[in-house]
Amino acid sequence: MTTTPTAPAGAAPVVETRALRMSYGSADVLKGVDLDIRRGEIFALLGPNGAGKTTTVEILEGFRQRSAGEVRVLGTDPARADDAWRGRIGLVLQSWRDHRRWQVAELLTHFAMYYPDPRDPAELLDLVGLTKQADKRVDQLSGGQRRRVDVALGIVGRPELLFLDEPTTGFDPEARRDFHDLVERLAREEGVTILLTTHDLAEAERLADRIAMLVDGRIRACGTPAELARRAAAQAEVRWTASDGSPRREHTEDPSRLVWELHREAAGPIADLEVRRPTLEDTYLHMVHRQNWDDEQETGFPTGDTTGQATAA
Ligand code: ADP
Repeated sequence: MTTTPTAPAGAAPVVETRALRMSYGSADVLKGVDLDIRRGEIFALLGPNGAGKTTTVEILEGFRQRSAGEVRVLGTDPARADDAWRGRIGLVLQSWRDHRRWQVAELLTHFAMYYPDPRDPAELLDLVGLTKQADKRVDQLSGGQRRRVDVALGIVGRPELLFLDEPTTGFDPEARRDFHDLVERLAREEGVTILLTTHDLAEAERLADRIAMLVDGRIRACGTPAELARRAAAQAEVRWTASDGSPRREHTEDPSRLVWELHREAAGPIADLEVRRPTLEDTYLHMVHRQNWDDEQETGFPTGDTTGQATAA
């Protein structure tokens, strides 16, 4: 994304969490999550499966009771929210499962009745690209078209904040691209704030103004894709084949020094030597696979002595 809309100075964040914690029994899933999401931005909460993304979103939606911490969504604690607040947020659920036999236009018209100022169903069909399918039954639609119905139901009430939890899982590339275009239109043309959870880095990078990486219960990095990529560039990856024939890989901020040391140790050519600057994906995977986080937060990139710990690739 090239545009990063900024909220007016002093505007309260649409979503704000401080030291948010969640435990299921003895399992601490969220260990102190701090988030600030600004009005009008597309914000991606990225993390591996099981990181706690859905848990976080469900707390923000008011569906799950947190263990500790402060949460404000549209200025209100979701645990104490009322119907008026609920009418200002949109959720994209897999609603079609319950409505397979409805006609698309009928379904949207029906749901519109629940909101004080709903979108016109015909406009809504146009917005999500389902005008031609208006008279079809939901169970006659393709997977991508059904997902558009889910989105249509999520935005029929003109939400200020839209939650999209793993929205494109199972999409083919074309459906994914169409869906991304729709999400961008909602944010850019209508000013809807969008919180997207995904384990797909490419999706986060393509769509989001800012990405927060949730790993091991905390936000370990947060910034624009460009900011995160710049942090990633601090460390290079060096690969080579050791004299015993095993493949080796190290991460270092000083690749020339590492190569020099390897060269000195090998006293000869280094087989299959490769030096590359990591991509955002490398940063992410490195974070996901890092074991000992201690209490570090938002460092952007793992620190410490990764050099000297050659690992077989
Ligand atoms: P994500 O959306 O990032 O995949 P989740 O929030 O779904 O992660 O789950 C985070 C962790 O919490 C997982 O280990 C999951 O098994 C556990 N978990 C989620 N919901 C419950 C629950 N209701 N009871 C117990 N454990 C749960």
